[in-house]
Amino acid sequence: MSMPPSAPQSRRAADSVAGSIAPAPVSEGDAPRIQKPRRAAPADAVRPTRAEVNLAHLRHNLRALERSLGAGPSAANATKIWGVLKADAYGHGAPAVARTLERAGIPGLCVALLEEAVELRDAGIHLPILVMGGYYGSRLDGLEEILAHDLLPVVYDAGQIERIASFARAEGHAPIGVHVKVDTGMGRLGASPAELDAVLDALTSHPEVRLEGLMTHFACADSDVAATDAQLRAFRAIEHRAEKRGLVPRVRHAANSAAMLRLPEARFDLVRPGIALFGVSPFDAATHEAAAVPELKPVMRVLTAIVALRSIPTGGRIGYGHTWQADRPSLIATVPMGYADGLSRLLSNRGHVLVRGRRAPIAGTVSMDMTMVDVTDIPGAKLGDEIVILGPQEGPLGKDAIGAAEIAAHTGSIPWEVLTSISRRVPRFYREP
Ligand SMILES: *Cc1c(COP(=O)(O)O)cnc(C)c1O
Repeated sequence: MSMPPSAPQSRRAADSVAGSIAPAPVSEGDAPRIQKPRRAAPADAVRPTRAEVNLAHLRHNLRALERSLGAGPSAANATKIWGVLKADAYGHGAPAVARTLERAGIPGLCVALLEEAVELRDAGIHLPILVMGGYYGSRLDGLEEILAHDLLPVVYDAGQIERIASFARAEGHAPIGVHVKVDTGMGRLGASPAELDAVLDALTSHPEVRLEGLMTHFACADSDVAATDAQLRAFRAIEHRAEKRGLVPRVRHAANSAAMLRLPEARFDLVRPGIALFGVSPFDAATHEAAAVPELKPVMRVLTAIVALRSIPTGGRIGYGHTWQADRPSLIATVPMGYADGLSRLLSNRGHVLVRGRRAPIAGTVSMDMTMVDVTDIPGAKLGDEIVILGPQEGPLGKDAIGAAEIAAHTGSIPWEVLTSISRRVPRFYREP
């Protein structure tokens, strides 16, 4: 289990302002200094644009996923959930999400980057953290950070194992646990079946490195069961080859949200859901039905408000390029959120927002900081009215919701990109209802 990092807490507290992230501690000597981007802090927010992160929904989703696995803090032998919090926890703010999951009893976390793992340690997270990206710098100075922060590195070639071994020898360090990633068909990262022998040789000849985990990643878990089955067979064959060499990983893992929900045989010892924890289905509507996904609650809502209103006569045009023209006397609302906040410019003249509980179309070109909305069919629309960009709204005119999948359908994207695009300029407000 992880030890708390030796963090100088008082200095950290002095450096941080509410809701923002303190700069990395200055390391001794010439160790690398990992810079962390700053987030907009709720305390600094003047404009009404914000992302509301519902931590109770996050806990609900964790419990729902645990139940679907027969897991949970009390189930000893069930598959464990290691939540994937890369990309600032899919835009929800990694420190707050990690703290909530840690308190809720999640046994481990995964991130893509070393910087993301260090940010979580600096936030006081003690859980095991797997750094999935497998990149530790050309001089391997990242390895020092891995050890200093008690993180679990992912490795995929013999050279990495040899360098970790010499590092451990030079430092007189106890054996360093690694997760070996194998490529079973994703074609992105991991040892190929052809490279496997070299990796296994490196592990057997370097007792300084311990095979803690064996992992792979699916290319088509949300879409193509046959391709995923082929990857599963390849993974089992690799596991078998390792076993024959006396190399038995403590844990094996492969499943993202889609695989854990749809393919029980892909669950192994732990699963790595990301999107499902945030309450968004990894499937399209038809597959979602068939997969019997437990009820998930979207964790993020994105809100803003009407800051200007104008009447446009028939024939009048608005916005950059004058791409929208009134075909009737129209009422146009301006909202202070644009593409620099993560409201895609591809939503120009296509997407919708919610006002007073009813859908209203985006009118004209989304600009960097502002967007116009046609509220002609929203009786009573006035300055200050709440505008929902993402999530549910209830108002005098009804009740509706805009999901990440709907936005993604307009922009030719996927819900993952919609969530991670909400930029750091949008302050996150955490809710505990
Ligand atoms: C992002 C990622 C996951 C989580 O994927 P979701 O589809 O969001 O559940 C799991 N494993 C790896 C290696 C990833 O990169």
